[in-house]
Amino acid sequence: MMCQDKVKASNLFERIVAEAIDLCASDIYLHWEPQRLVLRLRVAGRLQERKDFSNQLSEKLGDEPGNELVGNQVVRHIKIRSGMKSDERRLPQDGRLTIDVSGRSTLLRVATLATLFGENVALRLMGCRGARTLDGLELQNHAKNTMKELLRVPHGLIVVAGPTGSGKTTTLYACVKKLAEDAFKHILSVEDPVEVPIDGIQQVEVNYRIDLTFASALRSILRMNPDVILVGEVRDAETARIAVEAGLTGHLVLTTIHGSDAASIPASFRDRGVEAALLAAALRGLAAQRLLRKNCKECCVKTELGETHPFFSDPTVERLLTSLRDKTERAGLKHPPQKETTEAPCQGCQGTGYVGRIPALQVCPLSESLRDLIRRDASPAELRAQMGRERIPTLRESCLEWALKGETSLEEVSLVVGKE
Ligand SMILES: [Zn+2]
Repeated sequence: MMCQDKVKASNLFERIVAEAIDLCASDIYLHWEPQRLVLRLRVAGRLQERKDFSNQLSEKLGDEPGNELVGNQVVRHIKIRSGMKSDERRLPQDGRLTIDVSGRSTLLRVATLATLFGENVALRLMGCRGARTLDGLELQNHAKNTMKELLRVPHGLIVVAGPTGSGKTTTLYACVKKLAEDAFKHILSVEDPVEVPIDGIQQVEVNYRIDLTFASALRSILRMNPDVILVGEVRDAETARIAVEAGLTGHLVLTTIHGSDAASIPASFRDRGVEAALLAAALRGLAAQRLLRKNCKECCVKTELGETHPFFSDPTVERLLTSLRDKTERAGLKHPPQKETTEAPCQGCQGTGYVGRIPALQVCPLSESLRDLIRRDASPAELRAQMGRERIPTLRESCLEWALKGETSLEEVSLVVGKE
């Protein structure tokens, strides 16, 4: 009986992972509710419950009233497979496991957290697709070309801002992949965790349990004399300071930071105690990124928006239409499509109207005027105004450009970057 239950738990877990891979989910969550274990998948950044699996996980093992749920078995199975202590149910744990599903080996990063009703589990699917190249990222031409241009500089600091899940790490991976392919360079990275293994790059993973932090790993990395350093994220003052110093002493440093747009990056470094003069001298490029859900090709319909539609009185749209006029008119893209709900849910997108995501990237090389402003500790608003004068597309413009090309909807743009 016990043995059968274990097989059942293992099979159910494998079917859950297979489903997550099929749907291109990034995360699998097991959430306890009173008397129930709910399975949720994160697909294209949004959570969706899988009722069929929730029901199976919430079934009782046998008819006795005190019997535990299948979900308990599955949680225990996951904990054992990822090297956790199965009898520790109150303290949070983390681990990882590899699973072979549909003839492919997938790495999952696992974390547990005891909540009011039981031990919740979060599983992150790591690098099933491998790192993509800059050309494979579906970036807009201006963003891609400016980024390639920036990567030609031999030293300095390039920073991408964005919230968690904005795809900024994927973009940096593509950048270092390009650097690894183009020239023989010694590239080292420090990450938390290493999301995708990349050929030609020596990747170090942060491990707080043994005090291997971003800052301490970075100090050791500098002693290895690398040409290029990828710092997964600048979180603390020390990492910020070392990253800037490394950029000033002959290394090309690529990193990410939490922030809304390119113009907010210098303030984020200043908040972490970096001197304005050093920052101005080290910075080479500022970037920011968001991900937009892509319109489902099967069910999205193009709607002709009349010239009086409020969309066209938006000054950003007007500016964009003027700058894009030639290209858009030829493709007939003046009217962005709007998602319409259909009666029967579409098979292609499960009725959500979207399949996959595309990046909207703002890239700003540092001009002398911007450098001067940063040296004088200018505010994000002042930097934003200068970027406008230098005709650097804003994040919102990048997003609207995708809408004008029919790749995403106006609702999605509003959700991601607001209505201005
Ligand atoms: Zn659809």
